[in-house]
Amino acid sequence: MTAAPSASADESASGTNLPRWPRRPQRLATAVVGDLADRIVAGEYAAGSPLPGEPVLCERFGVSRITIREAVKALEAMRLVEIRQGAGTTVRAREDWNLLDQTVLGAVVAHDDDLGILDEIITLRSQLEGAMASRAATRLDEGHRAGLAGLLAQIDTATDDLDRYLDLDVAFHDVIMSASGSPLSRAIIATLNTQAFGSGPYIGTPTTADRKKSNVEHHAIFTALMAGDGDAASRAMSEHICQSWLRRRPGEQATAQRGKSPRERPGS
Ligand SMILES: [Zn+2]
Repeated sequence: MTAAPSASADESASGTNLPRWPRRPQRLATAVVGDLADRIVAGEYAAGSPLPGEPVLCERFGVSRITIREAVKALEAMRLVEIRQGAGTTVRAREDWNLLDQTVLGAVVAHDDDLGILDEIITLRSQLEGAMASRAATRLDEGHRAGLAGLLAQIDTATDDLDRYLDLDVAFHDVIMSASGSPLSRAIIATLNTQAFGSGPYIGTPTTADRKKSNVEHHAIFTALMAGDGDAASRAMSEHICQSWLRRRPGEQATAQRGKSPRERPGS
């Protein structure tokens, strides 16, 4: 909103100009963090290997040591690197990374070549949203009921419009999560969705016919919820999330037609 403060002079000393980058040191650090996180996740810096030293990173990004230190501290908070006194900064093993951090999750999803993380997101969504649908079945108030009915009527008219369908689909699921009174589960799903829906493979290549099938499942979820049947709502929700992924998962269409399950599909 205001011009960059004088601290930017600190950043302009280097000969490496990165004009598209923000000039505020804090935002510069964020940009450096994004770049380094992406390189770590891509395997450019392997687990256990040292991160390049401050002078190298200063030169590469054209920023000050202060900015690099701030960025490395942020990477440490994400559990991507470990800073040890006297031993420098080393890259942590993948199993240590904080995948619920948006920067880490975004980078992991971007490099999810075998769809392993997207499959796991589907597993988690199926389990958590199934449990939330069960709770919601006995907690719906009039606002939730009207909201779900209204959204379903709109989804019925949006199956030939991917963008509109996706927006309405997310809203439909969110009303159910909200009604469940499970704020932590809802926040976890929102975190996962924020990165997943930015991924081309996660959106996949669903056809209008695929969306119509998914919407039949929405109606089954709605019917179970309106009947106050938690078990049926949970089953319908879990099934919907898995089946709809099977229909759009890249390379999985042939498998889906044979009725097989994706890797790590939750029990159903
Ligand atoms: Zn849906």
